[in-house]
Amino acid sequence: MIRLSAITPSGQVHLGNYLGALRTWAREGTKDDVYFISDLHAMTASHNAQRLRSLTREQFAVLIACGIEPESTCVQSDLIRELGALNWVLECTCTYGEAARMIQFKEKSLGRESVRLSLLTYPVLMAADILLQGTAEVPVGEDQLQHVELARALARRFNHAYGDAFVVPTAVVPKVGARIKDLADPARKMDKSAQNSAGVVFVLDEPDLVRRKIKRAVSSTEGIANLTDVLASCTGKEPEDYTSRFADLKDVVAEAVIEELRPVRDRTLALLADPAELDRVRASGAARARDRAQHRLDAALRLSGLS
Ligand code: ATP
Ligand code: MG
Repeated sequence: MIRLSAITPSGQVHLGNYLGALRTWAREGTKDDVYFISDLHAMTASHNAQRLRSLTREQFAVLIACGIEPESTCVQSDLIRELGALNWVLECTCTYGEAARMIQFKEKSLGRESVRLSLLTYPVLMAADILLQGTAEVPVGEDQLQHVELARALARRFNHAYGDAFVVPTAVVPKVGARIKDLADPARKMDKSAQNSAGVVFVLDEPDLVRRKIKRAVSSTEGIANLTDVLASCTGKEPEDYTSRFADLKDVVAEAVIEELRPVRDRTLALLADPAELDRVRASGAARARDRAQHRLDAALRLSGLS
């Protein structure tokens, strides 16, 4: 059974991404799954070309460094021809009303003077990501449920109108592990695109910087609860075990986080220092994803009256 998940290169990978997503992909994923860097989705808001390219490369290295099955990884834009083709077919299956109804679009476009058309249409591209690979299950947070519902509706509609081309995907909302909060502002979740990175621990931060960020974490009730969540997530123990046992919780948390991230950081840096190897892994993941997609794309084009 194929599962598919992605991370968007809108910023550097942080501790929340790692504990909440990448580590689970590494532990529970199989080589049938698809874990990818959604660089095309990162272009739905204003972006810098150089930064997008380097973040994509860096995030891809982090995926591999986390121990995710290399065969199951790829970079979205490495399939841009296949995705672009299917995207068109799916845009012709989707109505304007369906796209305009997406809550994320409403939220992200609210009050903005200039909104990229792709922000409106990217849920269709997301449907292409899902359907191209024959995905059965899409693990998502509540905020992405509506997008998976759209992919499901488009698959059904296409299959019904033109003939069976697609597996109809199901959204699964995993029992959430801790949502890691920003250390400097525990009312917010830790976020790649946060304005201020003082409370965001990046996977590639040097140990000293991790230590300083954690030492400066807010000590409110919420802040401490977040730290114990982080500690529990790093050590695999229950949060309650820690609340009062340690004289200086922050020191313990800092060392646990540094140890948890150390191998990931070391392997990422080694991969980034070996561009040929990184390119090889990336190309082979892309080739596999393309192979798996080809017959489905061919069928979709043929059934819809093309080629
Ligand atoms: P952005 O600001 O661009 O939305 P993000 O940090 O929310 O960045 P995403 O690319 O949206 O990252 O999400 C990648 C994965 O990381 C998703 O599976 C998401 O649920 C998970 N994730 C993101 N932030 C956290 C967090 N603070 N705690 C736990 N998991 C998180
Ligand atoms: Mg997000």
